[in-house]
Amino acid sequence: MRKLIKFVLFASALAIPVRALCASAWVNRAFVGAGGHVQIDDGVYAARGLPPEARQRALTALHAARGRIAATFGVPVARPMTNIAADDHEAARFGLADDVPGTAFISPLRTEVVLNLAHFSIDVTAHELIHAEVAQRPGFWTRVFELPV
Ligand SMILES: [Zn+2]
Repeated sequence: MRKLIKFVLFASALAIPVRALCASAWVNRAFVGAGGHVQIDDGVYAARGLPPEARQRALTALHAARGRIAATFGVPVARPMTNIAADDHEAARFGLADDVPGTAFISPLRTEVVLNLAHFSIDVTAHELIHAEVAQRPGFWTRVFELPV
């Protein structure tokens, strides 16, 4: 019986990273080129075919969001990988649910922010960048084990 319990625990523990590795949204975020995205600014990626005015709208909003963070919490220190999706379909490929303007995926290695231009909001952009700050400033270990969240 103990061996069975150990086996089930081991298989369950193994299933989590295998599931994560096989999820296409994870692959698309980890390898932005695989998701068809190209770098449009430092740490910011968007679809190669995204019109220049849409790129500029996203970059302007990111700049303004960082300005809000700087005004309230000091100069941002987090460097999240930020993916700009043009619509719900593209956002879904990066793990964002329909009608959601943005989200942050936090891992021990980095924070990935996905923003959907179809529902774009500077408030949400600043909110997601704050998630990256909260993940970065105390460090992974402190955030996971010492912050009461
Ligand atoms: Zn949030």
